[in-house]
Amino acid sequence: MTVEQAVSCDVAIIGAGPAGTVAGALLAAQGFDVVVLERSTFPRFSIGESLLPQSMVVLEEAGMLDAVEAGRFQLKTGAVFHRGPRSAVFDFSDKFSPGWGTALEVQRAPFDKILADEAARQGVEIWYGCDLGEVDFDRDRPRLACTREGGETVLTASFCLDASGFGQVLAKKLNLARPSRYPARESIFTHVGDAFPQGLFDRDKILITVHPTDPGIWYWLIPFSNGTSSIGTVAAKDAYRRYPGDDADILTGVIAEADRLAELMAHATFDRPCQRIVGYSSEVTTLTGANFALLGNAGGFLDPVFSSGVTIALKSASLAASVLGRQLRGHAVDWEQQFVAPMQLGVRTFGAFVSAWYDGRLQDIIFAEDKRIPIQQMICSVLAGYAWDMNNPYVAQPERRLTALAEICRRS
Ligand SMILES: Cc1cc2nc3c(=O)[nH]c(=O)nc-3n(C[C@H](O)[C@H](O)[C@H](O)COP(=O)(O)OP(=O)(O)OC[C@H]3O[C@@H](n4cnc5c(N)ncnc54)[C@H](O)[C@@H]3O)c2cc1C
Repeated sequence: MTVEQAVSCDVAIIGAGPAGTVAGALLAAQGFDVVVLERSTFPRFSIGESLLPQSMVVLEEAGMLDAVEAGRFQLKTGAVFHRGPRSAVFDFSDKFSPGWGTALEVQRAPFDKILADEAARQGVEIWYGCDLGEVDFDRDRPRLACTREGGETVLTASFCLDASGFGQVLAKKLNLARPSRYPARESIFTHVGDAFPQGLFDRDKILITVHPTDPGIWYWLIPFSNGTSSIGTVAAKDAYRRYPGDDADILTGVIAEADRLAELMAHATFDRPCQRIVGYSSEVTTLTGANFALLGNAGGFLDPVFSSGVTIALKSASLAASVLGRQLRGHAVDWEQQFVAPMQLGVRTFGAFVSAWYDGRLQDIIFAEDKRIPIQQMICSVLAGYAWDMNNPYVAQPERRLTALAEICRRS
């Protein structure tokens, strides 16, 4: 029998990914009643496995660091880039901005469950297997209808945070989506039992390989602590059409074209079916309304190349929890200045790096033989996720600085 139940809380959050659970925990710590509506049951697979040092700052702020460390995930100290015979190594400890110099490589199923369990331990109520229906944002208090445990529930809240990731619930329901400035790209990925030859690979670093002849194709190799790795490739939409077979054949074929990666992967075995995501970049017309804000991917997504997704998601959770906490305590707040502007700053920094990667400027900087140490440290800072440090000229003026540096690197 369907029973309609009415539940009221201070903050409703859609989605129990990193943005949702961390925002929930930060609000619960301020004494607010938080309910998270999650479509799936956990643990569940998610892509987005390489964290940046900046994300550790927010995990620490949310009191989740001990629980994450107990998860025994792979330490990440930096990034290695390969293009043909050339290599470039970035060690996050050698960076311009202060703060964490290491991060983690995480299987998202256990990682997201740890964050969710921590949020629940800190007082957040999480409704798993919750099927969201009609939403009404025209009233003072948003109203979200959902089906869970076989019955209908209507949840009302003072404010709603949408942290539904690629689900982009409110962007769709409130018509906030707009086309991305980036061309559509697609990615094929899986996990492998890695069996890498000794000495060929530093497990403490993510490996990014550029395709030998098509700079628009690149690969990630993210090692985990249990002897498995995440491998994936990104290409312009439809570029995989020239490879025969199913996604596993295509991934194998693309890897075979990059000699050094192919050598590493010679004895690797695919551990799970390959998955493909197409056209993941997205933007919205606004990140906030009178009684809602969009966090993480729900507010848009750039590109996977610099592993910025979880970092941006966590930063948005931290900023929103701070502004919303003050608002709910009755203080005047300015969402544009205190949430939207800082989010746009980080997205602009990462966005400039993404554009420079695909148009070749950043690849020429990264693989330049003439390493200008102070400049490398500033680039390294952004690669470590410190995209909000206005003392770094590559954050203050990323576009202009990257163009100028690429010209110097090309001349040298
Ligand atoms: C190919 C690829 C590779 C990537 N690699 C990286 C990487 O290495 N590092 C990195 O930092 N980022 C990476 N990302 C990005 C990363 O996946 C996301 O940015 C990150 O997961 C966003 O976190 P989130 O909390 O906003 O959303 P998510 O982690 O997606 O969580 C959203 C949650 O909302 C739930 N949900 C969705 N719809 C509904 C609904 N209707 N009702 C209730 N719940 C709902 C989902 O089940 C999910 O649990 C990658 C992305 C792609 C496409």
